[in-house]
Amino acid sequence: MSNNAFDHKTDVLIIGSGPVGLFAIFQCGMLKMKCHVVDTLEMIGGQCTALYPEKPIYDIPAWPEISGGDLIKNLEEQVAPFNPVYHLNQQVVEVKEGAEKSWIVTTSIGTKIHTKAIIIAAGVGAFGPNKPPLENLEAYEGKSVFYMVRNKESFRGKRIVIAGGGDSALDWSIALADIAEHISVIHRRPKFRGAPECVDKLHKLAETPKLDIVTPYQLQGLEGNAQTGQLDAVIVKDLDNNEKSIKADVLLPFFGLSMNLGPIATWGLNMDNSHIKVDPSTSETSTPGIFAIGDVVHYPGKLKLILTGFSESACAAHAIHPLVHPGEALHFEYSTTSGVPKIA
Ligand code: FAD
Repeated sequence: MSNNAFDHKTDVLIIGSGPVGLFAIFQCGMLKMKCHVVDTLEMIGGQCTALYPEKPIYDIPAWPEISGGDLIKNLEEQVAPFNPVYHLNQQVVEVKEGAEKSWIVTTSIGTKIHTKAIIIAAGVGAFGPNKPPLENLEAYEGKSVFYMVRNKESFRGKRIVIAGGGDSALDWSIALADIAEHISVIHRRPKFRGAPECVDKLHKLAETPKLDIVTPYQLQGLEGNAQTGQLDAVIVKDLDNNEKSIKADVLLPFFGLSMNLGPIATWGLNMDNSHIKVDPSTSETSTPGIFAIGDVVHYPGKLKLILTGFSESACAAHAIHPLVHPGEALHFEYSTTSGVPKIA
């Protein structure tokens, strides 16, 4: 359920709909606490959907292999009985104390949510791709210039230029080689930074007509129809400014991500660099009533893994229960005993 009306009341407000934020809906729901979730992105799933929807994850318990996209689909299904309300495409910009131990959270488009507790599951913060400084780039974005691969099949039979020298550039050059018509890999240095076995695979592919390694070159310009957003060619230049044109239907620049905790860093929480310090037994921050879980937190021994975040969400939900249901005893129960309660 998505809701864009402007004033809301909930038990728990979750900032971030990555895998850990989503699982927090489940843990809160099991303790009969209603959740609203805000995310800057237009879809739920955080890094899993935005960065690697088709890549396999191997360390989710009881799933020998599951793609980032399927993990999020399953989580969405698992939390559906609790009727979470998603507020997407908006960033939480302000957190203020309200009356009687409550909080008022405001988003970038003016949505106000009154809540009894807050869980920050903001991962690496609001993130976006580092973009190459090319003239007219916006005209091609989303049409023939893409910063992530959501659906590999959409690139079948295309001439693809991949720019970058790290893991994403290598991984996608290899993964798309069997479906693309041709791939050119542009990197400003002759050496690639990625995993050695991937570098070897790339050089093997470059011995075939399928793939060219174009180094040391960097992106210089785009040629095509700026009205329709369809590329014809990518212009590259070497260190002596010699230019050449490479025919292309698609450009995939992989220059890493800019990550920005943004306003969260100004909410007076105890921070360690760009991470929020929490008590690992409760996931509570230095501000009572505000909790943090997942990649955004720091405590001694913290592992930035989805599975660790899942466990933190269970601790946070139990610690939040007395704030939402004061005076009500919380008896620890297995889900096999309690079943899955429904929340309106
Ligand atoms: P995220 O997934 O980062 O989600 C945070 C969400 O918060 C984002 O959607 C963001 O838009 C939103 N947000 C941030 N600030 C705000 C704000 N102010 N207002 C509103 N919304 C906000 N982990 C594993 O365990 N196993 C793996 O095999 C694995 N493979 C990986 C492969 C790749 C290529 C990458 C990049 C990561 C991998 N990870 C893996 C790491 C894993 O994806 C992260 O640990 C996980 O996504 C963290 O989840 P999260 O919910 O804490 O944060």
